[in-house]
Amino acid sequence: MSGLTINKEKCVGCGLCVKGCAAKALKVENKKVVVNDNCVLCGICVDSCPFGAIRIEKEPNGPSDLSAYRGIWIFAEQRDGQVLDVAFELLCKGRELADSKGCQLTALLMGSNLSDKTGELISHGADRVLLCEDALLNDQTEECYSELIAHLIQKEKPDIVLFGATGFGRSLAPRVAARVRTGLTADCTVLEINPETGFLEQTRPAFGGNLMATIICPNHRPQMATVRPGVMPATEPSLTHKGDIIRVHMPKAVSPLVELLQNIQSGTVESIADAQIIVSVGKGIGSQKNMTLVRELAALIGGSVGVTRPLVDAGWCEYKNQIGQTGCAVAPKLLIACGISGAIQHLAGIGGAKTIIAINNDPDAPIFSVAHYAVVGDCVEILKELISALKE
Ligand code: FAD
Repeated sequence: MSGLTINKEKCVGCGLCVKGCAAKALKVENKKVVVNDNCVLCGICVDSCPFGAIRIEKEPNGPSDLSAYRGIWIFAEQRDGQVLDVAFELLCKGRELADSKGCQLTALLMGSNLSDKTGELISHGADRVLLCEDALLNDQTEECYSELIAHLIQKEKPDIVLFGATGFGRSLAPRVAARVRTGLTADCTVLEINPETGFLEQTRPAFGGNLMATIICPNHRPQMATVRPGVMPATEPSLTHKGDIIRVHMPKAVSPLVELLQNIQSGTVESIADAQIIVSVGKGIGSQKNMTLVRELAALIGGSVGVTRPLVDAGWCEYKNQIGQTGCAVAPKLLIACGISGAIQHLAGIGGAKTIIAINNDPDAPIFSVAHYAVVGDCVEILKELISALKE
């Protein structure tokens, strides 16, 4: 059991720990400190005791041998037999992580009639595909998928497992993490291996997006994370890459508590998440009237319109066009960012863009640190010139 222990021989009843305890969990009785149920194991009292009389005993529930865990796994989510783009984005990141750790990259493919989809996972970098075809996996029932994935993790002991932060991935990944008793970092925007510790450094926006937090999972395995679609780029397939296909099976019959009666498709809302070209604008566009210029340029080059959050808040554009942490993550081939400062909450949505051209009148605007081409100038004037040049 985890808990706070007081060494009665070392404790002198000075009360320093009592003063520092925000949870009001400590008091001095008969010149010795005693702890009550309010204790949240924050550890402040441990640091404040000059006599080393207080300790936190932690339950050793992590695996004893972390080195037994090897390999990077990604969950290749499919819908109606089509592998989702986020799976290829995870494969690209997974390949990079596997190369830096010198281990294999494995894709998990689950559902029915999927054997012709294994090739595309291998050509995108997988060394192995664990393929399970079972009628139980036809509906996206988390209970069946989590039973299977947790069983495979316990059997094969991967070091890292990544999921796409789709609706299903967000629901499935925590169930798997809880079953295998490990941690999970949601909505990561950066994943890197620390060369010294070998730990997966999982970076994500924290505190309302006001700072980026890097999270590690030092004592439990596997290290698990989700990544939103479009946040990380996918690479082109390589037909020379070879891999193995290994068939796996449901460990036992699962009777899901929830029965899917019918799948009702919601109306199709045009999404900028799939757009190949985006003309994106921020407050630097100056006025709602100038949005016509943005739409005109987008139409001329066959692109969609993206905006920053303040423009949605101002009612200049619809929420479905918002890019960023609380909007859409996009991965276009070309993104033209006009009058956008490059706040971290916005950058969280454009990590997958292949080429970024940023136009801003401030040469020090943070957007330039992620742009491939930087144009310093008035975006309204540049938009007008671009439109007239294209029309000619
Ligand atoms: P500003 O930061 O005001 O930048 C305007 C830029 O335009 C400046 O760099 C300026 O130099 C330039 N400029 C001005 N005039 C011109 C001109 N004539 N020509 C060229 N350049 C010009 N924001 C998002 O976008 N998406 C999100 O999903 C999102 N989620 C958020 C979630 C939370 C919890 C929080 C707290 C904030 C979120 N934000 C989000 C807001 C974010 O913090 C920024 O405030 C926002 O991205 C800034 O938008 P902007 O770049 O349009 O405006």
